[in-house]
Amino acid sequence: MSRAGSEYRVSFPHMGNYTVPIVTLASMLDCEIMPPPKMTRRTLELGARYSPEFVCIPFKYNLGNYIEALDQGANLLFQAGGGCRFGYYGEVQEAILQDLGYEFEMVLLAGGFGVLEHYNKFKSRNPRLNMVRAIRHYRLAFRQTRALDRIEDFARRNAGFEVEEGAFDSAFDRFVGELAETRSIADVERVEAAYTEELRSIPVERPEGLLRVGIVGELYVLMEPFSNFFIERELARRGVEVHRYVNVSNMVDHGGRNKNRHLREIIGIADPYLRYHIGADGTESVATTNRLRQEGFDGVLHLKPFGCMPEVNAMSALQRLSREHTFPVLFISFDSQTSETGLATRLDAFCDMLRMRKRRLGA
Ligand code: SF4
Repeated sequence: MSRAGSEYRVSFPHMGNYTVPIVTLASMLDCEIMPPPKMTRRTLELGARYSPEFVCIPFKYNLGNYIEALDQGANLLFQAGGGCRFGYYGEVQEAILQDLGYEFEMVLLAGGFGVLEHYNKFKSRNPRLNMVRAIRHYRLAFRQTRALDRIEDFARRNAGFEVEEGAFDSAFDRFVGELAETRSIADVERVEAAYTEELRSIPVERPEGLLRVGIVGELYVLMEPFSNFFIERELARRGVEVHRYVNVSNMVDHGGRNKNRHLREIIGIADPYLRYHIGADGTESVATTNRLRQEGFDGVLHLKPFGCMPEVNAMSALQRLSREHTFPVLFISFDSQTSETGLATRLDAFCDMLRMRKRRLGA
């Protein structure tokens, strides 16, 4: 039976720093907002224990987030949806959690990012909500997302060359804290401008012939740093300039009415390695890798959850691209058994190989 709006305690899965805009959306419900506890190894152990064995790892992390949130008192859960198995996650997770004996309601937002599509779902849990207010929340959440993506992008490209260790991480953490306090678009613009200036003033030393590496692959393992063992920070520690294009701003820009045009564009860039869209982020992975190769990048990391079909499809195209152009691509698959030490060793070897190749090519 549905509860009155204020009796809800709403929660949702973690997705990197996007907790900030998600909280802005959840505040439409006028109820207590309970983000799940910080991700730990226990989150994954809980999720993996109750998930089907071969389901992809985002499902397991999400389920672990839900269990930890329900244990601390949440009674309303949100799940999004996507163009692959992700579209069915919500129903399956709801059934698993009910079997475990939890009492809660679940709202499934499968079907894109449109305000219209979601409005009725929020309104069904908070009858006092009106469209004007919903649009205000969506606009603010999207502006927060833009600010996050821009600031994070700058930090990602420069953190590897900071003079004072931890300077970018420290500024970025403070930025996220202040962004979480913003209540209007003007607030977000002020915070973004202040931190853009602060990040630009952090002293960096960029060596001659530095390595430029792109990261492509499945969106969850790209955007949730806990799930990829903070791989961007690890690359920065190895003195690499890191580029990543999969983020929520780009997904919104390339979704909705723009989706078909964007797909045609990226299939064109991925040609001759792909001729058709292969689902989820797979086409984007191939197109971005081909573009970065043409732009003279030193290499690409392809990240995917174990068993992710769209990215498995992308791999054969990426292997051919890599072979034909002698362009380095490191494939990394994540599951609950993935070892952090093994990953560090592979990153060391990949970066060494890129440096040797660069010296040999005289670049
Ligand atoms: S893109 Fe891959 S890993 Fe992500 S939800 Fe879909 S199948 Fe799973």
